[in-house]
Amino acid sequence: MKLIGIILVFILIINNIKSEDALIDDDISDYGSSIYSGSFSEKECKSASFITIPLGTAGGLDESNLSSFLITKKGSNLFIALDAGTIWKGISKFLTYRFNSQYLNITYPNWAILPEQKTAWFIKNHILGYFIGHPHLDHVAGLIDVSPEDYLPNNAFDIQPPISSGLLGLLLRLRITDAPTQSAILQKKTIVGLQSTLIAIQNHLFNNLIWPNLPGYGRYDYYNLQADREYYLSDLIFLNESQKEIIKNDFPHNIKLKSYELCHDSIMSTAFLFQDTQTNQQIVFFSDTGVPSSNTFGCDWKQKIYNVWRDVNITTVQAIFIECSFPNSTPDNLLYGHLRPKDIMALLKDLVARENPQNIKNPLKGVKLIIQHIKPAVGPTPQNLPQKRIIYKELCQSNTLGLNIIIPDQGEPICI
Ligand SMILES: [Zn+2]
Ligand SMILES: [Zn+2]
Repeated sequence: MKLIGIILVFILIINNIKSEDALIDDDISDYGSSIYSGSFSEKECKSASFITIPLGTAGGLDESNLSSFLITKKGSNLFIALDAGTIWKGISKFLTYRFNSQYLNITYPNWAILPEQKTAWFIKNHILGYFIGHPHLDHVAGLIDVSPEDYLPNNAFDIQPPISSGLLGLLLRLRITDAPTQSAILQKKTIVGLQSTLIAIQNHLFNNLIWPNLPGYGRYDYYNLQADREYYLSDLIFLNESQKEIIKNDFPHNIKLKSYELCHDSIMSTAFLFQDTQTNQQIVFFSDTGVPSSNTFGCDWKQKIYNVWRDVNITTVQAIFIECSFPNSTPDNLLYGHLRPKDIMALLKDLVARENPQNIKNPLKGVKLIIQHIKPAVGPTPQNLPQKRIIYKELCQSNTLGLNIIIPDQGEPICI
């Protein structure tokens, strides 16, 4: 009887998390989160510090599911995007989860009834800016696609019911009432990245040929990060000192950021290290990086990752987002600047070996290893398993560090 009770409670919890649509959409036998160590856990969300929403998790090919994660601090509903391969589809999937009303408390205008209206509103009012790790299309296409509607109108404060969450909530909290400053924050989001990334976006995407030059028309600002330099995220929306003081404990303004160059075959990519200034908790996000297919670019990919490790605090790091494009059987010369499970586990063992001066035992135990950018299988696989399962299995087999390996599903939030 007791066992049946437990099973019933479990079923009730699952149904509470997933809407009926999501359950029908998921092919549980192959792709449901339950086989991948569970990306959503009610219990973990209670004690979590951060929330991430995977908007796109695959590495190329499937244009509806390309690299992008939203991140916020629990308690906030203002997000920053880490890469922007897919935005719309990820948010519309996320909005089918009941998680939304439970943890984020998002208010929609009265007119936002249809799923597409809600998705658009979420993008407009709840994404503060975009951190782009490198300019490959599978990391920027979503931003380009949503850009024509990625702003709030000047009369947003007249919307009914009055909205005090997201970007509008930020303006209210800052008591910004003068129209030019309001309009700058409501209509101009920030695209953040290393100079090489931003120049590529400016010259090759928003160039009035491939796409209208929306930054040129006042819709976006570029914020140029210098590698290895520390920033406060409050710097990114151009506030004065007294305004910064008001929101210094709010996400993302209580976050320090450092970016690092990474090698990605023939171009530079980026790792972003975020640190909460109150708790010192860290989150590391790697855009594409890994083993080059040839030596012609002359970039020491391992050393670049060790530069990131130098600043990772193994006692406060909460999550490492890293790409794993291919399974272990892929030869070096076919990696094109990407990683396999064995490369990732070797790098994490190096992190513990190099940056553990106090010899703490199992310092990464329970740290979330969020695996992204898995390339879908395009040929035969052992037992016809999907690539996600093969990679998950390979990671688990060499997980002697006790990491909490997560293969995220698009739209399914993860508490960190
Ligand atoms: Zn790439
Ligand atoms: Zn990529």
